[in-house]
Amino acid sequence: MRHKMINLCPTTFEIASKMKNFSSWVRSELLKIHAEQQEKEKNYTRYRCPACWKVYVDRHNFGNMSCMNKDCGYTHELEPIE
Ligand SMILES: [Zn+2]
Repeated sequence: MRHKMINLCPTTFEIASKMKNFSSWVRSELLKIHAEQQEKEKNYTRYRCPACWKVYVDRHNFGNMSCMNKDCGYTHELEPIE
């Protein structure tokens, strides 16, 4: 295990002090957030413009993504990236 210092206000300090295993609870909450994020990202498609390297994220996966950078000038359809 590694240590990470966190700051608590007097109220949250009291709450944390009454918990039997605050560290375990924090780990479990962080892992929940991580799992939710990974689940969301499954439904996203990422595209990178080969000309200006701007990355776009399409949540709906409609395809036909083109570069929206006005200064870029790349007019072809963007390919999805891993
Ligand atoms: Zn571009």
